[in-house]
Amino acid sequence: MEKLVGIGVSPGIAIGKAYLRNKELKEHQRSDIMKNQVEAEITRLKQASRQVKEDLVLLIKSASEKIGLTNAEIFNAHLLILDDPEFIPQVISIIDQEKVDAVTAINKVVKKYSLLFSQVQDEYIRTRISDVEDVAGQIKDKLLRKDRDKTDFTEPVILLADDLTPSETVLMDPDMLLGFAAAGGSKTSHTAIIARCLEIPAVVGVGEVLLSKENDSEVTIIDGDNGIIILNPTPSVLDEYNKKQESRKQLITSLNSFKNRKAATVDGRTIEVAGNMGNLGDLNRLLEQGSDGVGLFRTEFLYMEREKLPSEEEQFIVYREIALKMAEKPVIIRTLDIGGDKNIPYLGLPAEPNPFLGYRATRMYFNRPEIYKAQLRAILRAAFSGNIKIMFPMISSVQEVRKAHSIIREVKAELIREGHDFSDIEVGIMVEIPSAAIIADVLADEVDFFSIGTNDLVQYTLAADRTNKSVSDLYSHYHPAVLKLISLTVEAAHSKGIWVGLCGEAAADPLLIPFFIGVGLDEISVSAGSILRTKRDIGKWTVTEAMEITHKLLRTKSVEEVEFILSNSSKE
Ligand code: PEP
Ligand code: MG
Repeated sequence: MEKLVGIGVSPGIAIGKAYLRNKELKEHQRSDIMKNQVEAEITRLKQASRQVKEDLVLLIKSASEKIGLTNAEIFNAHLLILDDPEFIPQVISIIDQEKVDAVTAINKVVKKYSLLFSQVQDEYIRTRISDVEDVAGQIKDKLLRKDRDKTDFTEPVILLADDLTPSETVLMDPDMLLGFAAAGGSKTSHTAIIARCLEIPAVVGVGEVLLSKENDSEVTIIDGDNGIIILNPTPSVLDEYNKKQESRKQLITSLNSFKNRKAATVDGRTIEVAGNMGNLGDLNRLLEQGSDGVGLFRTEFLYMEREKLPSEEEQFIVYREIALKMAEKPVIIRTLDIGGDKNIPYLGLPAEPNPFLGYRATRMYFNRPEIYKAQLRAILRAAFSGNIKIMFPMISSVQEVRKAHSIIREVKAELIREGHDFSDIEVGIMVEIPSAAIIADVLADEVDFFSIGTNDLVQYTLAADRTNKSVSDLYSHYHPAVLKLISLTVEAAHSKGIWVGLCGEAAADPLLIPFFIGVGLDEISVSAGSILRTKRDIGKWTVTEAMEITHKLLRTKSVEEVEFILSNSSKE
């Protein structure tokens, strides 16, 4: 038995026979050509890249169905690489000037790009070299008349590979690919994103040891939750993982009975269980889980995974697709929440000493109204097709809400002037800054709903950066101050007759369910994987039991005391 460790990028356990795909690591030998062959070689290159382009157009169509429109954008980026004003022209110029074949020239250009990308600080951009390599690999395959690497397995396998390109991964049949491990790769690679969408357990960044010939055909376990690969497990380890896999399956089956059912306490109080999403792949998972709606669409991902601002039309298409797919269920679209740990390089925002306390989200809108207006126009127009609501992040004062409303009014007037169809919609705010929670009664007069963002509320209440490991022990949603602010917010909202939800990570904490019922939340929004469990857990409590626990929690003095009460009352 051998255990290898990498980065778990897609959760779940896969057990099966390994298929080792150790690509020939042999470098393509530099191949010189004669002067009179240059033109023909350039024509061959152009033909190959045209064929790759045709393949990509087909791939985008099938990828959109498999992993959603937004994730399929990855392959639009591949088209952009083919059309890049530098990429192919550089290859042509090397063929012409150095008199080498097209494959040699491509390898040279890719090497140059690798060097450039490796110097970029931003990990996301740094790892984009894999997209350039993917496209280059496809052109080289055409030039060498090589079939694509084997992806059409006839029996279910666990693939061990040097690396998997995004296009290979999306073409795999999820019934035949039980899981995969790769020597290279990173958490933010497109391959990892696609694996998560297809729900294929995956571990990457394992290193060259993965590619040892002995690993071929061995029984292999991929533990995507913990980033572990076990080759040739002992009978007892195999048994342990078979049991884990079985209990995971059983849990999924038992939870399935909660699909499309309203969550209700034992005594019949219903709470909406909606879902958080960042892209259309997430939307498909929310739909699969029978979510009561979208409680939070983090729209910044529409802006982050690209090189320029998305146009109003591009956004409109995405928002409308969500509204239509969710039918009449509510869809809360949060306006751009950039800054803090989310950067958009092309906006050229200055580096700040304290980004979480800096120029972010709503604070930016008033200086860059064109960005914000395009988004609001797209949202209002899409609202015509479904039950969309707008939510502003990072609100700390009444003035900010009023300013935001005034921009909405301006945008509505523009849409009317231009004769667009649009709908009047509910407008809410995130309560994620302590000042907003403290003046929640005042803010409640200005909006239609609140959604409590505990991720930020915890960091701002406890002055503990949510991304800083050194203070992670201070960062706890069990702090009595946080619980009090949540309670204060719900009470203020209800006293003014508006509804209130909670969409931070704390929403998925099963121990807090009685507190959420006890304070009287109307909605909880969690990621797709937690929807069914949350619905089941709400059904374990009566309102009276939940209120008793809540009263106790609101009298605690420390995190430890809260933890003690919650673990003692747990019904897990
Ligand atoms: C939050 O702050 O709790 C929240 C849901 O938003 P984000 O994590 O995107 O800041
Ligand atoms: Mg937040």
